[in-house]
Amino acid sequence: MDNKTLHDGFRRQFTHLHALTVLIISLLEIIGYIVLVVSQIEQFSFANAYLWYGVVIPIVINTITHFVARGIINNSSVGREQKNRCIVTAALVTSFVVAILHREYIVTSCAFIFPMVLSAAFNDRKLLNTSFGASLVILLCVGGAFELDGAITLTTILNLVILFGLAVVSYLCGIVSINFSKQNYATIESQAQQNDRLRERVRRDQMTGLYNHNTFFDHLDNKIATHTSDKQLCLAMLDVDDFKTINDTFGHDCGDTILICLARILQKHCGMEHTAYRYGGEEFAVVFNGKSQADVCSITENVLDEFSSYNFPFTDASVTFSGGIACFEPGMTRDKFFEAADQTLYRAKREGKNRILTANESIRV
Ligand code: GH3
Ligand code: MG
Ligand code: MG
Repeated sequence: MDNKTLHDGFRRQFTHLHALTVLIISLLEIIGYIVLVVSQIEQFSFANAYLWYGVVIPIVINTITHFVARGIINNSSVGREQKNRCIVTAALVTSFVVAILHREYIVTSCAFIFPMVLSAAFNDRKLLNTSFGASLVILLCVGGAFELDGAITLTTILNLVILFGLAVVSYLCGIVSINFSKQNYATIESQAQQNDRLRERVRRDQMTGLYNHNTFFDHLDNKIATHTSDKQLCLAMLDVDDFKTINDTFGHDCGDTILICLARILQKHCGMEHTAYRYGGEEFAVVFNGKSQADVCSITENVLDEFSSYNFPFTDASVTFSGGIACFEPGMTRDKFFEAADQTLYRAKREGKNRILTANESIRV
């Protein structure tokens, strides 16, 4: 699952959670009203006011907020951060409505925890700061409303102070949670990068930097599996001539220098599009995708020209290679395709080395 899908799913779950919260609040408000009316605890005028301020207005505001938020979240042109902000804003509106309109139950002000938890879940420090600021505003508004009602008592003030403490603790928990997530994410990311580097190391030959034997067959299988008739797929197998003698005469280090040199020339001529591999020892392979046989011959000939004219410091003699080229034909297995190029390479050796042959005709003598 990619990161975007994960975040979209996460947001969708929070949107459902908001819908559930609004539903539960609405049900509680309706139940509260029914209890009020049935028990006739309060006078009719109070029950009537409660119907409007405690039931109808909060349900309408919360429901509209939810559907507006849902519309924004489902809008594909809105960015990820904006969508997160939108969910937190919806939670803030709901918290505010509940805290103010049900202030007689002062504990409802605790709803401010909901937007702070969401901000921490989205790993957004700015959003957490805003949610914390909004919580303080909610508490001030609740206190102000009590003052306006003329109902402020010592207990109310103490409750508000306790709620303020709760807001601070929630905010600090949010900061710790965001820091932890960020560090955790950084660790996971560095582990993933390390894994990528290790995987790449395993896929490459350390001396030449080219892809190795196993990667060659993996790529070849893949190229054959995705091959289409409109794109020619060719394989060139190359083998340095008389390499054992070179090693024996000039030493292994000089032999290594030659292999590194050939790898560089191959990379230069084949580029990123056509991949060169160190098949093993002094043998190399190149897979050409989307080039005609004539183009493949011309590229490998250029490689041979540059390689054979390279002046190595330890010898005046030119170092050469032989090559065999085969083009993929429909119905061929990978082994048959490889064998066609390899057999052609050995034919080039038998015919005198320092040449490139194709599976069907000789192009260089
Ligand atoms: P031919 O022209 O028929 O290909 O003869 P050749 O001598 O090149 O082939 P042979 O298979 O007899 O020898 C290949 C040599 O390559 C033997 C081996 O020691 C050497 N070799 C294989 N890998 C390396 C390497 O990484 N570095 C060096 N310096 N030599 C290597
Ligand atoms: Mg050789
Ligand atoms: Mg060989």
